[in-house]
Amino acid sequence: MSQPQPRDIVVLVPGRLHGHAVTRLGDGFRLVRIDRADPALIDAEVAASVRAVASMTAIDARFIDALPNLEIIANFGVGYDAVDASHAAIRKVMVTNTPDVLTDEVADTAVGLLINTVRELPKAEAWLRAGRWVSDGAYPLSRATLRGRSVGIFGMGRIGLAIARRLAAFGLPISYHNRSKAESVGYTYHDTLVGLAQAVDTLISVAPGSAATDKAVNAEVLAALGTSGVFVNIGRGSTVDQTALAAALKDGTILAAGLDVFDDEPRVPDTLLSLGNACLLPHVGSASVHTRQAMADLVVDNLIGWFDQGRALTPVNETLSVGPRQG
Ligand code: NAP
Repeated sequence: MSQPQPRDIVVLVPGRLHGHAVTRLGDGFRLVRIDRADPALIDAEVAASVRAVASMTAIDARFIDALPNLEIIANFGVGYDAVDASHAAIRKVMVTNTPDVLTDEVADTAVGLLINTVRELPKAEAWLRAGRWVSDGAYPLSRATLRGRSVGIFGMGRIGLAIARRLAAFGLPISYHNRSKAESVGYTYHDTLVGLAQAVDTLISVAPGSAATDKAVNAEVLAALGTSGVFVNIGRGSTVDQTALAAALKDGTILAAGLDVFDDEPRVPDTLLSLGNACLLPHVGSASVHTRQAMADLVVDNLIGWFDQGRALTPVNETLSVGPRQG
């Protein structure tokens, strides 16, 4: 039996991409790889041949404009703040992301990070491994607990809701802040972030990165959270004023923080690294073999859907009205 021939469609992959996505793209399309999303790395002929980009890196307006026949950008990840989707919409280029397939994994990670932060489990394990259980005795009682806490979620979308359901099952009251009240969500709504922070002692940020959320968790919000406050960020580093957060952790404005995301990844400032009350993870929210494979499949299936049926599976809001090119 003859092998099906790859479609004669050029897909450009700038920078690193999940291996399963690369393999499937190579089977189904003409794959072109470059080190990074830089127009200087492709000549005019290649640029004109590119009809799709598959990537997990920043795609800016200049790069989009350098590809005159680009139809679709398939982003690996549900957060697509690094892709200039508004500019893509102006250029009538479809942008897709990878929602839903990672929701439960990220929610699991958020709950794990919260428990690690309040119960100090990574520090307790380090105590055991250093032989201190033998030399010094039991690990000190954790200052914090989940018991009696009330949780506020900044960004009650797909992942926020999955976190809320988990923590509601732990017996904790839940409230949230979005730009607008979600009618289908029964949890208590606050129309400002500072109002939410005032009402709870545990704030979980899972809002997307955008101009509107930039440094939204600032000194005022942290002060409102209070001295027994715990802050967890599983969304985007850009949503937090990182300098204000480090200061609030250092001077006791809040009790502790659990962070999976940072302002300038992979760089984490010494002001956070040096703090004993910060539990830090290297952006591993969705990072299991299972979930990353599902995300890779959705990247490729979006391209197949677009070129075979003229329909992307998971378009982002900005490009919902973008249709396939005629002719
Ligand atoms: P989603 O379903 O679109 O939910 C986002 C929520 O944020 C929505 O409910 C939205 O409600 C709210 N929101 C957006 N802008 C806001 C603003 N300016 N002020 C207040 N609320 C705002 O997205 P999701 O699938 O849950 O993913 C959320 C984010 O998680 C992603 O964008 C990504 O950055 C992050 N993430 C991180 C990891 C990780 O590894 N750590 C993994 C996956 C995702 P309104 O529209 O009503 O405001």
